[in-house]
Amino acid sequence: MTRGLDGRVAFVTGGARGIGAAYVRALHDAGARVVVADLLEAEGAALVADLGERARFAVLDVTDEGAWTAVVDEVVAAWGGVDVLVNNAGIANAGPIEHYPRAKWDAVIAVNLTGTYLGCRAVVPTMKAAGHGSIVNISSVEGMRGSRGLHGYVAAKFGVRGLTKSLAVELGGDGIRVNSIHPGWIDTDMTARIDPSGLPIPMRRGGRPDDLTGTVLYLAGDDSAYVTGAEIVVDGGMING
Ligand code: NAD
Repeated sequence: MTRGLDGRVAFVTGGARGIGAAYVRALHDAGARVVVADLLEAEGAALVADLGERARFAVLDVTDEGAWTAVVDEVVAAWGGVDVLVNNAGIANAGPIEHYPRAKWDAVIAVNLTGTYLGCRAVVPTMKAAGHGSIVNISSVEGMRGSRGLHGYVAAKFGVRGLTKSLAVELGGDGIRVNSIHPGWIDTDMTARIDPSGLPIPMRRGGRPDDLTGTVLYLAGDDSAYVTGAEIVVDGGMING
């Protein structure tokens, strides 16, 4: 059992499907109460119904500042605070730079980077009041290197990595830790059109959402009590492949 998650409140954005849903199940299995926050109402409601009373769903567009305030206030009123925030909601898009319009750039920056900033800002007051907290920001291997065509996505994921480190410096004295996870190719709707057998993955297989759950539990709970501002790559070795 991961230390320090029993009874804690964990908030996962983009938690209704894909990697986020795997984080939700793992945190719930570790004893946490879990908030699934997503745009996808049917998927989110089905997931929390399956998990039972230690799970609740909130409709949340992570780019909407007012919605963040409302949802976090609701969770604090119901469950007393937010101990863990996993900023996982994300979208991806691509195209050669001459055919990469402003709308694509704005959309990917808004969800992946601004959404992460808004989430951190929304939960810090309750974490400061509690004197502890763990924020886990989901970046990517694409937040550590260039990648053809993924201009806004790469910029956003580098931004998430940088924001993680500035927050770790600022919030360490308040007992709030902030770290990032950098997945490689993971089998979800986001990557459905990419065949992992063509990728230079030393472990010779694509990743599955469950390949990431040990890392999120480690960073969310007390086993990483002295870890902040860190980045953990979970990619079967792809970034070095
Ligand atoms: P996914 O598309 O399966 O799931 C993304 C989830 O985010 C969905 O439930 C979606 O509804 C939600 N979402 C999107 N926009 C939102 C918004 N504005 N507000 C709230 N929720 C929103 O993708 P995934 O593969 O599970 O990706 C999860 C995270 O992991 C993303 O941040 C992604 O960039 C990152 N990541 C994924 C991979 C991969 O290979 N799949 C690799 C590296 C990083």
